[in-house]
Amino acid sequence: MRKRYIITKECVGCGACKTICPKHCISKGQPYTIKQSQCIGCGLCVSRCWRNVIKLIKQEDAKA
Ligand code: SF4
Ligand code: SF4
Repeated sequence: MRKRYIITKECVGCGACKTICPKHCISKGQPYTIKQSQCIGCGLCVSRCWRNVIKLIKQEDAKA
């Protein structure tokens, strides 16, 4: 199951997450956004965000 992250509106737009993302899938904005189709779920952006505003979204398996 792929991990999915979102950036919440508390993002201050510092750009640290965008700089560290190995897939270059974070776009500038207010808040910054993650291009889900390109994100590999590595979590680097989460550990980099000093504001702690990047959250992991739990995706339930529809049917196991
Ligand atoms: S989880 Fe990894 S690939 Fe996805 S947006 Fe964050 S740094 Fe980029
Ligand atoms: S590191 Fe955090 S606060 Fe900075 S742009 Fe990324 S999500 Fe926003």
